[in-house]
Amino acid sequence: MANKGYKFRLYPTPEQEKYLARCFGCSRFVYNHFLRLITDAYAESKKHLKYTDTAKLLTLLKKNEQYSWLAEVNSQSLQQTLKDLESAFIRFFKKLGSFPVFKKKRNCQSFRIPQHWSITPDGMLKLPKMQPIKMVQHREMEGMPSSVTISKTPTGKYYASILVEYNSHEAPLNGGKIGADLGLKDFLITSEGKKYPNPRFYKRALKRLKRLQRSLSRKVKGSNNRNKQRLLVAKAHEKVANQRLDMQHKLSLQLTCENQVVAVEELHTLGMVKNHKLAQAISDASWGQFLTMLEYKGKLYGCEIRKLDRFFPSSKRCSKCGYIHENLTLYIREWTCPECDTHHDRDINASTNILIFSAPQIRQELPESTPKEPVVRQGHQGGYSLGLGSCAALSPQ
Ligand SMILES: [Zn+2]
Repeated sequence: MANKGYKFRLYPTPEQEKYLARCFGCSRFVYNHFLRLITDAYAESKKHLKYTDTAKLLTLLKKNEQYSWLAEVNSQSLQQTLKDLESAFIRFFKKLGSFPVFKKKRNCQSFRIPQHWSITPDGMLKLPKMQPIKMVQHREMEGMPSSVTISKTPTGKYYASILVEYNSHEAPLNGGKIGADLGLKDFLITSEGKKYPNPRFYKRALKRLKRLQRSLSRKVKGSNNRNKQRLLVAKAHEKVANQRLDMQHKLSLQLTCENQVVAVEELHTLGMVKNHKLAQAISDASWGQFLTMLEYKGKLYGCEIRKLDRFFPSSKRCSKCGYIHENLTLYIREWTCPECDTHHDRDINASTNILIFSAPQIRQELPESTPKEPVVRQGHQGGYSLGLGSCAALSPQ
């Protein structure tokens, strides 16, 4: 069984919008309240509060008259918020995410309803404690719906994201295996030699975003004009995010549908973003989002996604004979192997290595040939052991 999400636009009435605002508010309050509590408790007693602790505290909090308004919304959503907070901490402890931050009213709002919701026969979305909301279900859903997340974008659009459990399809047994290297100049390079350029949506929109942002900062706080301007800024950001999503959905779908195995390098984006020169370009590429898509689409279409250890000399190793080119600098885009005379394109060679090293038996047989520490240092100075496209493309422009 795999999970899949469907996202449908919602059109609540003004009345319903008011109630949803309360749901978002309560969820945000609970998240922020317990985030502070967990942090404080840890600072005082070095004890980490778990979901079981916070859930009990939430029950107590609701009995307090001052917070009785928390009872107006679905209690399961509030518990779900606590679970989400716990997941955020788990991600942080596993070094997969940064420390959880307070949720702000002006950012995207959301709350999740794990059960007791339904879709009415006329296609409306029925949530606990409120009348059905108009929903545009633009495509049929396959599988068993489990939870629904209601969200509101900063531009004021409402969405329902429905999670379904789903029997995965089998991909055509064509035996296709592919290695893929993620980069900045080219977004993705396959071991078959195909290169998909990196569209850099954010960078392209940067001039306009800056202008909008400047204009926003000049508007009087609390004024109507400021609100209008903020909406324009939010819309511009939304457009960039949508363009990126569209590109990544198409590419990940193509890779998972056409192949049986896709091998990629596991990326340590968080560490790389600390290099501030690269940070913007890396965030703009959004590899993390792309890998998530690959993984769930892999499950859907029966394509195995092999994630490779972060550090092994994928660029420096000749994919034909195994020779390690120690002096391969970032500027060398093509090289000829002195051992076997093969001419390599740097990125295609890296993708081929990724595919070779992803084979399960090879990973067991060659543990010592994948040195961890030294390669981290060498290759990581610019985050380039990952074959991050050409350095020339990154130098200040
Ligand atoms: Zn060679």
